[in-house]
Amino acid sequence: MKKFIEIQLGRVYESNLFDNAPSLKADLDDVDFENFIERIRNFAETKHKEIEQLHNRDDFRRDFIGDVSHELKTPLFTAQGYLITVLDEDLEDPALEKKYLGRANKSIERLTYIVKDLDMIAKLESGMKLEQSKFNIIATINDVFELLEIRASKKNITLAFNEVYDYPILVKADKEKIEQVIINLLTNSIKYGNVNGSTLINVSTHSAHQVVVNVIDNGVGIDSKNIPRLFERFYRVDKSRSRDQGGSGLGLAIVKHIIEAHEQEVLVKSTVGEGSTFSFTLNKAN
Ligand code: ADP
Repeated sequence: MKKFIEIQLGRVYESNLFDNAPSLKADLDDVDFENFIERIRNFAETKHKEIEQLHNRDDFRRDFIGDVSHELKTPLFTAQGYLITVLDEDLEDPALEKKYLGRANKSIERLTYIVKDLDMIAKLESGMKLEQSKFNIIATINDVFELLEIRASKKNITLAFNEVYDYPILVKADKEKIEQVIINLLTNSIKYGNVNGSTLINVSTHSAHQVVVNVIDNGVGIDSKNIPRLFERFYRVDKSRSRDQGGSGLGLAIVKHIIEAHEQEVLVKSTVGEGSTFSFTLNKAN
């Protein structure tokens, strides 16, 4: 019996189950069973976690492919529908023909937005490298104000700071990616903002080491039941409004990825009919 157990244990030790496994001592009495059981338990736990991760990744990939094809199908088929009509039917009316081509073009523009944002999200998900530097967040916000000025003016929406920042506020982060976060949040405040509205930005101290950037709009607002899902990719509260405004449904998912990669927080507070405040924290630069 003793010999049998020794042989079986020897086989376990010699297998590839353990890293740096000690070789089985000649005598069964010398085997540290506590340690042996502990090693098996650790091994089982590690494998269990690995399998779970693989399952999750597989589910994620399946959902992602499903979501992407669903999102691409609508604009693709819409564009194709209008093009086929123009090609196959004798419309005889150049104005109608132009209208249909215009609609096909709009759908193709939507495809472009989605593909561009998908490209960005794929890059972010395949392990994002941050290039952190010290920069003045006030200057970066001003650059985005300028970038979006024309778009905001189409709805007569004012983009401004809610107080005068005549001193720099230095943060340590990936400047380009934080600029993307501000672009996405400000673009949303315009898309879901009311005509003649305003978007105000406030930058204040959050903790000894952090500042918080608040993007405050007085737009349509979001019902509290939708808030928990807002940062999921392709989640929209009002699908047709998002589509009309050229949304991909990925803007906030991108924001969340970037902020979490910085190990910072993003928050939202909103009231329907009053407006929304999206906030994110950043590390102060020393
Ligand atoms: P989209 O491309 O549809 O704008 P986002 O991921 O940027 O996608 O936003 C997801 C959804 O969150 C939007 O479809 C919209 O319903 C809602 N949302 C985002 N920002 C705002 C805002 N400032 N005000 C009201 N609703 C918003």
